[in-house]
Amino acid sequence: MKCPICGREFEPESAESSLPFCSDRCKTIDLGRWLDEKYPFLSDKDEEDEEIAEGWVTDEDH
Ligand SMILES: [Zn+2]
Repeated sequence: MKCPICGREFEPESAESSLPFCSDRCKTIDLGRWLDEKYPFLSDKDEEDEEIAEGWVTDEDH
């Protein structure tokens, strides 16, 4: 069986809990990719909030 993440050939019998991936690591990577596609705004939003927060603090000081 071929892992869809890393492309490595592996024996499914030795990694039943991670199928169709070769390991928990590849399973986690796939989950992360899926979340990025479904919620692409989450990581960007945090950065924007920080910039806005700093701007507000500066305005209040003046
Ligand atoms: Zn893999």
